[in-house]
Amino acid sequence: MIISTIGSHSALQILHGAKKEGFKTTVITDKKRENFYKNFYFIDFILSYEDLDDAVIKINSLKDDGILIPHGSLVEYLGKERVSKIETKIFGNKNIFEWEANQKKKMELLKKAGIKTPEIFESIEDIDRLVIIKLNGAKGGKGYFLAKNKEEAKEGITKLIQSKIIQGEDEIIIQEYVIGVPMYFQFFYSYILNRVEIFGIDIRYETNIDGIRRLPQQYISEREIKPTFVVVGNIPAVARESLLPVALDYANSFVNTTKQLIPPGMIGPFCLESIVTDDMDIVVFEFSGRIVAGTNLYINGSPYSWLYWDEPMSMGRRIAREIKMANEEDKLNLVTT
Ligand code: AMP
Repeated sequence: MIISTIGSHSALQILHGAKKEGFKTTVITDKKRENFYKNFYFIDFILSYEDLDDAVIKINSLKDDGILIPHGSLVEYLGKERVSKIETKIFGNKNIFEWEANQKKKMELLKKAGIKTPEIFESIEDIDRLVIIKLNGAKGGKGYFLAKNKEEAKEGITKLIQSKIIQGEDEIIIQEYVIGVPMYFQFFYSYILNRVEIFGIDIRYETNIDGIRRLPQQYISEREIKPTFVVVGNIPAVARESLLPVALDYANSFVNTTKQLIPPGMIGPFCLESIVTDDMDIVVFEFSGRIVAGTNLYINGSPYSWLYWDEPMSMGRRIAREIKMANEEDKLNLVTT
């Protein structure tokens, strides 16, 4: 069996973990990155593609004995249409991709799971507090902005349309801006062991919002510096232990809700992107239904994965371990779609 992934995002971690679990590994990459991936001993085969249609052909060349591990770049790079043409088995539930790409559906799912979420404003006219305006899909925070009233919101949205970043208002979501600190809780749902494992926590390092706090307040207001949210890296975090039971309850409830709404439900890695307030509330403003890049911090295991495994367990390796266990029990078809 070959474990494969697209050369981007968390590919190194995924293939490193797969090798540790004894699998053959393949990276499917843009020709330009071929030399980069040659540096790594744990990559057995490199399949280079010329263009994105060719990428699908390369992925499908593994359909007999390959499993593709999806990550954040898969849908963003290939687009929905091409992803639907993939015949190779995908680890996890590919039906979740569609929900992931749609901010409104995402929030609906979180609410159904009984998870605390920020207020959503369906119309610009309803805005009555500080809001963040976001774009659909995993764009790394690009184009997001804050607005303290309707007028600022309208102005910002018009700019997005004029600069052709979006075509219309239906491509944005308006959320209450929750004041607190970000904490992104990473989990793994094991279908084979029937449990949710808390895997790790990270904070996204975002420019310029994380840089602004280094400047004196007066400097910011005089120059009217506007916060932006472009993700450029990740910082590790651990939470107060008293936050963990709530986080894990949310994660279990999330998994159960996906089973009802998106059968066969969540399988494998996911993340609940949250703001923790000074009431110690965890408010989840977003989820990722696949491996997040913040797990790249924990290639040698995280403070939490040690508690389950007592060995260096990256998320990439955890995925491979699940595939291995499923294969041994003849249940591969239950952890792939
Ligand atoms: P997202 O693409 O939804 O992960 O958002 C990118 C960044 O915007 C996050 O990492 C947060 O810093 C910030 N953010 C998004 N939504 C909210 C919210 N409702 N309240 C506060 N900050 C938010």
